[in-house]
Amino acid sequence: MNIVKLDPELSLQILEKVGIYSNRFSISEPKTLLATKEVLDAPKEMTEGRRTSAYKYYGVAYLQHNLVFINVRKIPDEKTLENTIVHELIHMRFPYLAHGKRFNKLVRQGLKGKSFPPYRKRSKISAI
Ligand SMILES: [Zn+2]
Repeated sequence: MNIVKLDPELSLQILEKVGIYSNRFSISEPKTLLATKEVLDAPKEMTEGRRTSAYKYYGVAYLQHNLVFINVRKIPDEKTLENTIVHELIHMRFPYLAHGKRFNKLVRQGLKGKSFPPYRKRSKISAI
């Protein structure tokens, strides 16, 4: 198995990709953690619910805190890495959407370079 090795160059590449996709998805660039140690070192309230279990996943999106974790050491290849980055950022752009067909379609579109307009919360005032 060819584990992706985390070095400064790769870190920079990942952060660049996060920047590029964040622009396309019209979201503010999340703070990005690339190692389980960084998850454990982050303030507990930021990583609540997926802190000590984060190592099990390719990636985690902490929506409330605009924070993502890309588990570089667990990711087997470049394709999975790209897919994980886009997957987590789609969570950020579509916070109401659970995993499923529609979610996967958006990930595929994102990987192909699609842009999305900014997320707007629906107004609570429906009529006056
Ligand atoms: Zn997910």
